[in-house]
Amino acid sequence: MPKIQRLSVSLINKIAAGEVIERPASVVKELLENSIDAGARRIDVAVEKGGAELIRVSDDGCGIAPDDLPLAVASHATSKLKEADDLFRVGTLGFRGEALASIAEVSRFLLVSRAADQAEGAELEVVAGEPAPVVPRGCPVGTTIEVRNLFFNTPVRRKFLRTNQTELGHITETFTRVALASPGVHLTLRHNGRVVHDLPPCTAGVDRIARLFGEDLARQLIAVDSVDDPVRLWGYVAHPSESRANQRMQYLFLNGRPIRDRSLQHALSEAYRGLLLTGRYPIAFLSLEMPPELVDVNVHPTKLEVRFQDGGRIYSQLLATLRTRFLTSDLSTPLVASGQGTRAESPAEADQLAARAAESREELVRWAKDQVADWETPAAAPDQHPGLPHPSPALGYGQPSPAPIGAGLTMHRLDRNWQAPAHDSDEERERRPDRQVVGAAALYQSAGVTSGGEAPRTLEPRPAGAEPSLASLAADARRTVSAMQIHNRYLVAESDEGVVVIDQHALHERILYEQLNEQLAHGDLEAQQLLVPEPVDLSGPEAALVLENRELLARLGMRVEAFGGGTILVTSYPAMLGRVPPGEILRDLIEQLSVAGKTPHRPQVLDELLHTCACKAAVKAGDPLSADEIAALIDQRHRFRDTHHCPHGRPTELVFTRAELDKQFLRT
Ligand code: ADP
Ligand code: MG
Repeated sequence: MPKIQRLSVSLINKIAAGEVIERPASVVKELLENSIDAGARRIDVAVEKGGAELIRVSDDGCGIAPDDLPLAVASHATSKLKEADDLFRVGTLGFRGEALASIAEVSRFLLVSRAADQAEGAELEVVAGEPAPVVPRGCPVGTTIEVRNLFFNTPVRRKFLRTNQTELGHITETFTRVALASPGVHLTLRHNGRVVHDLPPCTAGVDRIARLFGEDLARQLIAVDSVDDPVRLWGYVAHPSESRANQRMQYLFLNGRPIRDRSLQHALSEAYRGLLLTGRYPIAFLSLEMPPELVDVNVHPTKLEVRFQDGGRIYSQLLATLRTRFLTSDLSTPLVASGQGTRAESPAEADQLAARAAESREELVRWAKDQVADWETPAAAPDQHPGLPHPSPALGYGQPSPAPIGAGLTMHRLDRNWQAPAHDSDEERERRPDRQVVGAAALYQSAGVTSGGEAPRTLEPRPAGAEPSLASLAADARRTVSAMQIHNRYLVAESDEGVVVIDQHALHERILYEQLNEQLAHGDLEAQQLLVPEPVDLSGPEAALVLENRELLARLGMRVEAFGGGTILVTSYPAMLGRVPPGEILRDLIEQLSVAGKTPHRPQVLDELLHTCACKAAVKAGDPLSADEIAALIDQRHRFRDTHHCPHGRPTELVFTRAELDKQFLRT
């Protein structure tokens, strides 16, 4: 048997660091928590190269006395717990006393601090766990911690770091959580000197949400508040018209601590049952407040998970609170600024909000007009790929208008529900030229996209001569085939063998997929330029994922740019997807990208993305089709190699042979 030995302090700290410090974002989390615990009113975070190079957190909190500096970086030293019982009523974010020790073990660490009652500050440097003597240093009250070259002495860990963008994404997410939990603290985040977030202190949590995720989302929030003594649950949940394809926009806080809790997420989904489509998840910003002794926060090294004494009761409280709130809200229409009182507390405030919205809309219109004036040629002409069938000529909702810019240009605002913007007043609508709906969210130069509320899924009559190929192709098709649409979802046609029943969505999806594949083989896909780039608010990691896959997305015609924070600007998107809001496409593509895992095999991922685009662009079951559309669809069925299965492998058609029919009708 090998001899049992005590581990060295350095090894103990390295092991602890392994648990607590996984990546730069973990350092940011621990340092931010310390600053909040120190009562800081302002905290500045600066990182370089995704945090691998430098993480600096400065606060104006209570500071640390010079004599205490060595203790602050010693393991199991904390000012937050005094006796064992304190562990069961933790009121601070930290309490384990090992964060600074762990961080200092795996980096070049510098701690500069001045306590409020000291005339002078002091600094302490620690390199790979080896502290230098404390030296006096002039500095303002508060604490600054610099962490350089994280994991420089643990090469294995360092190798696990992902790209700077990805690490920044995680840091931004961590920062966001802390910022949501402490709206009263002024927080800033800089990356390589550039400001990512500057969040002034605010009293209402919703203002911070608006700052982080945009006014659009903030307007769709429903305030909730309930007390089941001694537990208070309060915060905001989003109107069901706002949802996500994953649970990342579910922010939960317990006594000011960001937490993760599967059971509460489940309760949230239950509350929205029937209000969201399957696969969509609610957005929520919810805080629980309860006496600390009712919850054990010491069950997870990074304190992200907690154990409630009575989890079942909290589950019920969440479910009941939301259900009751929904019952008393009119969920059939999206909220408006002056509506449900979520954003606007008073009529005066509502007016102000409406005025602000109108102002920014006008500004955008002015800007867009300038752009149009500068714009000489359409971004993408329909016959850019001669010799190739244009994506679904009869069903191409998104073909850019070949008409010269300025002549008959129609700008459409598409919102998620294909309705005119909810916040447009009648008066505002009247002031605008006929059929010109311009909103703050998106401006498109595109024909054939309806912005009216009714029957948006069918094609609109197009300007004469705009798309000559449409009519002629359909006419050709009609000469050779005919089919009938039933239940707005199946097409029934005669074939040589008998009768064929076609699933309209599956077939169209297959055809589009094949067309996309062909286009891709000839180069990148046709892109439709957006007049005004569309901002899409994403979580930090999502934004990072998008930027990492920028080139891949560009091949599909989707061009994106970083805008700061989690916001991504979509500057162009696949032309064939003209009727789908860019933000929605982007989110679906993100989903595919995150499913693809960490080391995606490019061709396969691209193929998945093509499937996604084809599925999005295809007519849906339930879409009524015109005779021409049916004819064109049937016609193209024969042009591609395998149209008998949709890209997901479902059959696109069923054949009932004449022999079979004869047999069924007892004719044989
Ligand atoms: P914990 O937060 O669990 O106590 P840490 O290792 O994170 O452990 O910090 C150790 C101690 O250093 C804290 O208990 C606190 O007294 C002191 N400290 C750390 N950061 C700060 C800060 N920003 N301002 C004031 N004191 C701090
Ligand atoms: Mg701490």
